[in-house]
Amino acid sequence: MTGTTVGILGGGQLGLMLEEALSKLHAQVLVLEPDPQAPAAVRVKSVLAAPFEHASAIAELFRRCDVVTYDSENIPVGPLLPHAPKLVPSLRVLETSQDRMREKSFLNQHGFRTVHWQPVPEGADLPTAVKTFGVPCIVKSARFGYDGKGQYFLRSEEEAAPLPLAQPGGWVLEEPLALRAELSCIVARDGKGGTFAFPVFENLHADHVLDITLVPARLEAKWQDEALTTAKAIAEKLDVVGLLTVEFFVGTGRDGQERLFVNELAPRTHNSGHVTRQACAFSQFDALARILTQTPLHAPTLHGGAWAMGNLLGEVWLAQGLAGGALDLSAWRDFPDVVDVFLYGKHEARPKRKMGHFVVQGEQASAVLERAKAFRAALSRSKAT
Ligand code: ADP
Ligand code: MG
Repeated sequence: MTGTTVGILGGGQLGLMLEEALSKLHAQVLVLEPDPQAPAAVRVKSVLAAPFEHASAIAELFRRCDVVTYDSENIPVGPLLPHAPKLVPSLRVLETSQDRMREKSFLNQHGFRTVHWQPVPEGADLPTAVKTFGVPCIVKSARFGYDGKGQYFLRSEEEAAPLPLAQPGGWVLEEPLALRAELSCIVARDGKGGTFAFPVFENLHADHVLDITLVPARLEAKWQDEALTTAKAIAEKLDVVGLLTVEFFVGTGRDGQERLFVNELAPRTHNSGHVTRQACAFSQFDALARILTQTPLHAPTLHGGAWAMGNLLGEVWLAQGLAGGALDLSAWRDFPDVVDVFLYGKHEARPKRKMGHFVVQGEQASAVLERAKAFRAALSRSKAT
């Protein structure tokens, strides 16, 4: 519907790209974001500068908007409670996906396979829990984790001792898998029973942060089919209206069998889905914009060839001797197959901080992967003048 006013809780790069998609549909957008230098706070016209805990600012956002979504699941639920009917995806979906204990319990209750795990509720003794669970294990904060933050790989029980006991929301312990691949699948549901999925992406991580996404994924069809079916089934079980991204592992656990495991859920657009901006007939942002404005949705098809999305992290800016902002893109002239570069305009470059991304088009997955790596290496060698 044109004329819809959409609120976005969070003004990061996901909020910014969603605003772009909403503007094409002539929707009005209002962003609530505490950081005045955040990508959407800088580039979007209407912004409420307030923290997510600020009940009266939240009330104003909902009053001025027909529908409100969020660009991160790491937002407090309390102030949203009185406004739940306008929230998309729903409060239940948000609550389930922002807490690893709830998320994994939900998945297991409905028969979806996760890695072997154990909850450690807030205040429980972490070293004792690690002893019972066994090492090696991964300790993850149950709440507010992203890009590997709040995660610790323990090789021995003693390594649990220095970790904070008073972790708000507690911890989960996970069995480390021998990973062969990581996949993600974005499902879009329109509230009228239509469930559509983007093609399965293959995700390569470096140091727990997404590095490169490839589509089509290189993995055998049986794993991709299972991921697609599972992602749709989870979105249906959760009764999601909006987007649900499901992250998967293909790996081997303690039983020695290679399997598909659900890693985690994100009820929103996802970093891996940036590739859809060029590789698909319409992007993940377009899909969400259409759902929020009740514009009809149909299945997102993939263009031919092979596509890679590469993240540009703070390290590239630091390598160029820059503190943030624009990047020297002169190396791009040798990479005509890089069909898009998107810089988020973040002022401060920090290691591992997502500052931009690019997309490469080609014929073969292995070739676009190499080109993506070469492009980023060339950018990192450029010295800003
Ligand atoms: P985040 O919320 O930070 O994305 P994830 O649980 O997705 O947290 O973990 C980030 C990355 O760490 C994963 O994409 C994967 O590369 C690695 N990882 C996390 N859990 C496991 C595990 N149980 N076994 C092997 N690798 C893991
Ligand atoms: Mg993850």
